[in-house]
Amino acid sequence: MSPFDNAMKQLDKAVEILHLDTNIHERLKQPERMLTVAVPVVMDDGSTKVFIGYRSQYNNALGPYKGGIRYHPGVTIDEVKALSFWMMVKCATVNIPMGGGKGGVIVNPKELSEGEIERLSRSYVRGIWRNIGSDQDVPAPDVYTTPQIMAWMLDEYEKLVGHSDPGVITGKPIADGGSEGRGFSTAQGGVYCVRELAKKMNLKPEQTTVAVQGFGNAGAHMARILSEMGYRIIAVSDSRGAVKNMEHGTWNKLDVEALEKFKHDTGSVVGFEGTEMITNEELLKLEVDILVPAALENVITLENVGRIRAKAIVELANGPTTPEADDVLKEKGIIVVPDVLANAGGVTVSYFEWDQNVKGEHWTETVVLEKLEKIMVNAFDEVWETKEKFGIDMRTAAFVRAIERVADAMQK
Ligand code: NAD
Repeated sequence: MSPFDNAMKQLDKAVEILHLDTNIHERLKQPERMLTVAVPVVMDDGSTKVFIGYRSQYNNALGPYKGGIRYHPGVTIDEVKALSFWMMVKCATVNIPMGGGKGGVIVNPKELSEGEIERLSRSYVRGIWRNIGSDQDVPAPDVYTTPQIMAWMLDEYEKLVGHSDPGVITGKPIADGGSEGRGFSTAQGGVYCVRELAKKMNLKPEQTTVAVQGFGNAGAHMARILSEMGYRIIAVSDSRGAVKNMEHGTWNKLDVEALEKFKHDTGSVVGFEGTEMITNEELLKLEVDILVPAALENVITLENVGRIRAKAIVELANGPTTPEADDVLKEKGIIVVPDVLANAGGVTVSYFEWDQNVKGEHWTETVVLEKLEKIMVNAFDEVWETKEKFGIDMRTAAFVRAIERVADAMQK
């Protein structure tokens, strides 16, 4: 099944539970606007290459479209549409006044020079500028796009419209209007979810064992913050493999701060003193309280789900669980805090960046984190209550709450 087919299956499920009006259901089956633009770039050798770019504007009932732009050779219309639908669901799950959008350019940025990437980014903006703006559609970084790319896009946009509008794009460097806290906001949002979940499971931090797959931006920040709060991080991994810390059948906490330094110095977590190397697949099957996939999509599948022994999964990565594996997790009684909630800290602080830009403000990190905590805890509680009310899993509950919110706004 394609990503968009999957997304529509999730929509159908929520619609059925909500007994949603069929006309609203019909309208939610397609993005409100799908732009396809030619992106001509003068290459370093003087030749011109034309790339294809997309921007899907799924739904703006709750606020301006919001979602990242990815540069990847595998970008397709179907994927961009699905990702924009999921952005709509994510923003509505955490109740921020933003709609769903997503963009992409079919390109392998690793084959381009820095100058070519800058010209590509400016050219893409020339293709979509009439349909974006702080009150219309607010892009952000995604796979292989960076704060620097956002700064080039902002500069090109402001030249075209002839006035300043820093809120047109988020994920900018601080000097260009970026927000404090954005660098670790996804992890911090996930941490609030772990804390609230542990309370529901009657687990104290020092009793709670956690394994994290993917020691990158999201995963490493999460491991560090949880460890500072007293949680027992007992295994982590990256693309080269995983490490665990067990002695005579008893888990020992990893020293996450020292591990971060080790990864910085050597390029991997593998080989960290006092640990035993295991595979990424073995990490997924460890008997821990909480498993945090924070690397790739589709890692928990029909093939390995039978051997997952965690009590709960907090999806920091996007789409780590296949729909078929999700059904098995439900049967096994393993709680899944879904990606649309667990990693929504990133888009929430993006919304804060937009809010600061349109108001001409700059908030301290403390203010950003206070606001983030409130939003994440409210969203977690709401999803939990919806799960209890309908006797459904947390993913379906998040979709039900989000679709209900979007549908209400569409009917107004
Ligand atoms: P990243 O590139 O910084 O880190 C990814 C990590 O995964 C790296 O440590 C890498 O070595 C590791 N990895 C790669 N292949 C692996 C494999 N086969 N097995 C185990 N580990 C592997 O990326 P990131 O920004 O941390 O994003 C990770 C996930 O979180 C993605 O799914 C992303 O969509 C999601 N996410 C990130 C953000 C954010 O703000 N960074 C926001 C929302 C969602």
